[in-house]
Amino acid sequence: ERAAQAAAPLAPGALADGTPVPLLANLGSADGAAEALRLGAEGVGLFRTEFLFLDADTAPSVREQQAQYTRLLTAFAGKKVVVRVLDAGADKPLAFLNDAPEENPALGLRGIRALRHSEVILREQLTALAAAGAATDAELWVMAPMVATVEETRYFTALAKELGIAVAGVMVETPSAALIADRVLAETDFASIGTNDLTQYTMAADRLLGTIAMLQNPWHPAVLRLIAEVGAAGAELGKPVGICGEAAADPLLAVVLVGLGATSLSMSPSALADVRASLARYSLDDAKALARAALAAEGAAEARTAADAAAAVIS
Ligand code: PEP
Ligand code: MG
Repeated sequence: ERAAQAAAPLAPGALADGTPVPLLANLGSADGAAEALRLGAEGVGLFRTEFLFLDADTAPSVREQQAQYTRLLTAFAGKKVVVRVLDAGADKPLAFLNDAPEENPALGLRGIRALRHSEVILREQLTALAAAGAATDAELWVMAPMVATVEETRYFTALAKELGIAVAGVMVETPSAALIADRVLAETDFASIGTNDLTQYTMAADRLLGTIAMLQNPWHPAVLRLIAEVGAAGAELGKPVGICGEAAADPLLAVVLVGLGATSLSMSPSALADVRASLARYSLDDAKALARAALAAEGAAEARTAADAAAAVIS
């Protein structure tokens, strides 16, 4: 009987009042699928596809890509899988995409900008994804990284649909996209907030630079205000707003993010258990109270302290 209990599926992510908060996995290849499922992932919220392209002299063929995507989607049959199209920049130069050196790779030809510049790569990737999606039962969503404008949103969404992707969205990881989230979301099916880049760009602090790592803190109220903009736009338009940056893996910040309007959280699978347990301690009203406390703080450290204090009153 004990063995049967151990094998029972973990409860889906939810707040104390029953509000569902799907808990999804960030994956960098299909190899982690079984482990993510074992740890209770309800699907995949961010599948990074860079592994297929790095260390290659030529782009992988549609057939090769299709095989990898099919492997992933088969493992998550019946579940949601959000795949991100290639996010390469001058920090990860690819001979067939963006090999011109740049002084500021984070601000350069990366993400959707690079794909648009070499559209055949994007078309092939979307074609491979659509074929894998059609051949499996997972619920495939596809999103573009580094979107900064409404026009890029419209471009990507239209191209994805033209090539057979049923659900297309964008990552919100530039302050620009967050500030105009209402207009961005009006042009696409969903948003997923990449808090790693959103923090880097909001704080104007290179996320790879150890000397300024203290600024790379998603608790900063400037970052939280931008997330609140996106959450409000999603609620207004009835569109999903996921979080797929590291912030979602912090059990207390996860509650704040839901209070700001996030409708699902995606993280490395090892963080799922702690985040699930934390969410179960708060109602949606509690989460909103934690979010208000954090938003009203002066800086990142103060925001965490304020959320902690608000949480202590509740639980
Ligand atoms: C992010 O920027 O938060 C994100 C999830 O994407 P990556 O870390 O791959 O840039
Ligand atoms: Mg990013």
